Amino acid sequence: MSVPCVAVARERGEAVRERLADACLLDGDHRIAVDGDTIYIPVTDPGALPDDLADSLVERDAAERDRPKTPAEILGYEPSLERLGDIVIVDEDDDERAREIADAVMASDLPCETVLNRASPIEGELRVRRWDVLAGNGTETVHREYGHEFALDVAEVYFSPRLATERHRVIEQVTPDESVIDMFAGVGPYAIPMAARGADVVACDLNDVAIDYLRENAERNGVAERVTAIAGDVRETTDAYADTADRLVMNLPHSADAFLDTAVALAGEECALHFYDIQHEDDPFGPGTRAIREAAGAEYDVSVETEHVVKSYAPHEYNVCLDVRLTRR
Ligand code: SAM
Repeated sequence: MSVPCVAVARERGEAVRERLADACLLDGDHRIAVDGDTIYIPVTDPGALPDDLADSLVERDAAERDRPKTPAEILGYEPSLERLGDIVIVDEDDDERAREIADAVMASDLPCETVLNRASPIEGELRVRRWDVLAGNGTETVHREYGHEFALDVAEVYFSPRLATERHRVIEQVTPDESVIDMFAGVGPYAIPMAARGADVVACDLNDVAIDYLRENAERNGVAERVTAIAGDVRETTDAYADTADRLVMNLPHSADAFLDTAVALAGEECALHFYDIQHEDDPFGPGTRAIREAAGAEYDVSVETEHVVKSYAPHEYNVCLDVRLTRR
């Protein structure tokens, strides 16, 4: 197809291309071509060319450029998608529409090996959900978050990429040589970056598969010597760490209050506690604060340092985090 091009000597090509781009005159739909010592740069609006380039205007055949194709361009609407490593997660109740989106994702330029749709809510003590595999064949992947790699199998362990910012907020508070206990550690998205900041981390989880991945992830991120991984119920497996923690992470929002006696037993003289909770919007921080004060009893002073809304969880309900300081009396 014949399009307007500026024809210039090859050695001037890059400078002219930059001028055209700065003036928004570069035609991105057609390829730049070279013929002998001349370079042909397609332009969008010949009438707007500066005089010195207008003198070099020619008409010339130019090949169309392959443009990246997004799922939205293929579908004609913007689907709701989430990325987890090389997995794309669709959030669709309608099976037919989910399959249509999966086909578009696979036909697009998104780097992706597998497309999954949520087949159940997050369930049970291990907080895992079921999935429909719409394309590809695996539920295992390696996800990158703030420079760290986490291998995981979404069908076997809990992991939410949506919490990356919240995890980072908490991780940034860690200083070298702290003793941290992550009571509900999953595959290590708190424990491993905290160890990378120089903390010694004890990471516990009831899910054996999560602990296997956590150990692999500690190796993968070069912090294995700073991470002690423990499989089992944190109430029964962490006696050896009583009175040691400078920092406790309690990321089990629906039932963390049932573990506050263990948290208080693990806390050292002065301990930062990150307590996740799900509560009604009318009083999102009150129940957690009261439960922590009750568990601390006369043993610790309790000071609430941050009341933080992580995200909306359901209509009128919030996922929140209380950053609390426990100081032994
Ligand atoms: N902190 C991780 C993250 O951000 O990905 C995992 C959080 S997930 C909401 C809660 C984790 O607590 C799950 O991996 C689950 O297996 C674990 N869990 C549940 N009950 C537990 C218990 N009694 N002792 C230790 N871990 C437990």
